[in-house]
Parts: sequence; structure tokens; C-alpha cells
Amino acid sequence: MRSDQTRLLFTDAFGLSHGKTVQSARANDPTHYALTVMVQGLDLQFIEVPGYSTDVGFPDMEARLDPGTLRPAWGGAGEVGMCSLTHADGRPLPLCLRTRLREHVARWRDLGLDPQIGVEMEFYLLAGPTVADGPLPVPAHRVYGTGYGADPSGLLDAIVQAAQDSELDLEGCNAEFDPGQVEAAISYRDALGAADAAFLFRELVHDLALEHGVGATFMARPFADSIGNGMHLNLSASASDGHNVFHDPDDADGLSQSCRWAIAGLLEHHGALTALFAPTVNSYKRLHPGLLSGYWANWGLDNRLTSVRVPGQRGPATRIEHRTPDGTSSAHLAVLAMLAAALDGIERELAPPAPATGDAESDPGTAVHTPHSLVDALDLLEKDSVLTEALGPDLTTTFLGLKRREIEAWDRTVTDWETSTYGRVY
Ligand code: GLU
Ligand code: MG
Repeated sequence: MRSDQTRLLFTDAFGLSHGKTVQSARANDPTHYALTVMVQGLDLQFIEVPGYSTDVGFPDMEARLDPGTLRPAWGGAGEVGMCSLTHADGRPLPLCLRTRLREHVARWRDLGLDPQIGVEMEFYLLAGPTVADGPLPVPAHRVYGTGYGADPSGLLDAIVQAAQDSELDLEGCNAEFDPGQVEAAISYRDALGAADAAFLFRELVHDLALEHGVGATFMARPFADSIGNGMHLNLSASASDGHNVFHDPDDADGLSQSCRWAIAGLLEHHGALTALFAPTVNSYKRLHPGLLSGYWANWGLDNRLTSVRVPGQRGPATRIEHRTPDGTSSAHLAVLAMLAAALDGIERELAPPAPATGDAESDPGTAVHTPHSLVDALDLLEKDSVLTEALGPDLTTTFLGLKRREIEAWDRTVTDWETSTYGRVY
């Protein structure tokens, strides 16, 4: 891209990117024509699902740059910015994820609270362009590894550099648990800014990997013999004077009442949240006890074996980490869902159970866990009025339609496991 060009991006309901490259002089034009709403309702085979886009005849929509999101593009030239989706007259499109999130944040702000989100992103660097090529071979793998030993190809260093060039403000980036896996922590910020940054970071990683002739994957469980890719979300809330309302120095655990209510809200909606936190068929290969992936509806004080973990730091860093989301979720929808469930807990002043302690995967203190399939998760989401109200009726219909289409495609697929297991003996 040239230095006088701008990449304008928007997100679909999968969290995947679409957009246009324009001359920078045109980046703030109110209209970027010839975008159809159809793209917001297309399944992964590019076939439309019933709902808002089909029902209204695939009209045009506009992608309008949110000027505050402009930042240097990775790759050394030009800029990149996030767009919200509107009708031609400027009214927000019901399928615009950024608008849904912004409108939900307004509900927190009406209570005098500004939710802050920090996103941790895990992914695998690959040995070749596709997941079938396996993870990048790393001769000297260490958890929290950096430098040549963690990635002799230099791709990881290039990703960190590009994220810095694009002012994404990573807190850190390192090799994660299994060889080839990486984690990047994006510093916390306002909820919409955090979702935008996570969305852009995933785009950046894919671009940089391709530039290096390989691929990367944020798939929930790309390799059966390796741990999955989480996208942990860290939530705190600041009052108008900037202080973190989740901290209470007078509480034995240093946690305020609103923090406890928010935790209880997250546990109350644990099953339905899973549809937005773990939105692919493959996600359910990650959600098992023993994989540190947020299976049980429990919480704990600095306990990574719980789903809702309150890390040890207090004061301004007091926060709730949700460990269930995986790398296939839309950052905008996952953040929206987490905020909606937490706010429900706060508004209803729900009390959480006692925190789980010790080996909280084996001894979770609850019988409730994430559903075992996307089919069940979508059914729970459909019945959850708090989450569907946050999405709005049109986005709910489209999301359920897209995901049920994905399940139909999976149901028609005969896998290698089936042919090798059943084909041999029957
Ligand atoms: N990779 C684990 C997951 O799937 C998380 C490991 C960790 O960072 O604690 O969420
Ligand atoms: Mg991690």
C-alpha cells in the first residue's frame, strides 16, 4: 500500500474483515458506495442466510470511517481505520457490530461506569500456508520464550514490530504453551477500542504470516495433540473520576460489591455466553476440563483452573478475566456478550457462589459447564433474553442463521476419523 492510501475495514458477524482501500484524501468521505448489506449475512460458503439482508432486498450500505480509529497501517505505509455501517441516510445498520457494542457501552455510561477491556490473543504460527502444514517447528521451545529460540523464522519479531508501527500497544508477546503457539496481550482500553484492536491484530498477524510465506491460525483447537487458542477477556470498570470500581480496599479480597455482582452475572449466563465465546464447531474440541479453557461455571481468586479468574493485582489493575472465549470469536461480539452478562449481574445485584479453590477443573464446585456442542450453545443463546437484547433482533437472527448453516455443513461432512475408525471394521 502507498503512503497516500487508507485501508477502511469493517467486521462481519464472524469477526472477519471486509473493506476497501481508498486514496487517503477520500478516507473521510461520508460514503463508500457499492457495498451491499448482503456481505453481513453470507455464510462461509458465500450463500446468504435468511434475515435482515435478504428480507430487505440486499440494499447498499455505507462504511463510515470512525476517525478516532485511524492509525498507521502495518507494512510501513498508509493508514488503516475502522468503519461503522450505516444506511445511506446515516442511520446505523442493525447488523453493525461496532454500533451494537457502542450502544451497549452507553448503558454502562448511564450508570457512571466506563468498561475497560484487555484482550489476550493466542494463535499458532504455521510451518506452511495452511493448518495442515502443522505448527511452525521451534527447536528450542519455551513457554514465555522470545527471540531466535522461540521463532527462528523471525516472523514473531516482525509481528511485534508491525503491531508497534500500527500503535496497537501490545503489553507483550511471547511463545505460549505448545511449540509454535504465541500469545500477545493487548493493553486495556475502552471496550470498543479493545475490540477494534483485537480485530486489527488478527488481521495483522495473518498479513504478516502470508508475507513470510506461511500462515497463522487462531482456530480454537487446530491440533488434537496441542492446547487450544484462547482469547481471554479482562474486564474492569472506571468511574467518572477514573478510579477502578471493581477494587475495594476494605474488602477481605479487595473486591467491590459491583465486581462480585459482575462475576455472578457472568456465571449466570455461562452456557449462553459460550455461543459467542466459542462460535465454531471446532471450539468444542477446546472446551474440556484439563485444557485451561474455561469449562466450568465457576470463578476463583488468581486460579487459572476456573473460568472467571480474578488475577491477583488490585488497585487500578483489579479485573475479571474470562477464560472461555477462543480465537474464533468476533472480538466485538465476545466483548459485547461479556459486558451484557456482567451488567445484568450488576443491575440485578446477583451474588456469586464462593470462589473455587485448588484444582478447580477436577473439583469445580458446580455441575454447570459450557455446552458440549455449538448446537446446544446456540439453543441457549436463543433463549437468553439479556444476550439477544444486546445483539438486537436482526443480529441475533443473522448470527444464529449463519452458525446453524455451519452446523448443517459439518453434519454433511464425513471425516477422516469416521472412515478410518468405522470403515475398517464394518
Ligand atoms: N491456551 C489456553 C486456552 O485455550 C490458555 C492458557 C493460558 O494462557 O492460561 O485458553
Ligand atoms: Mg495464554
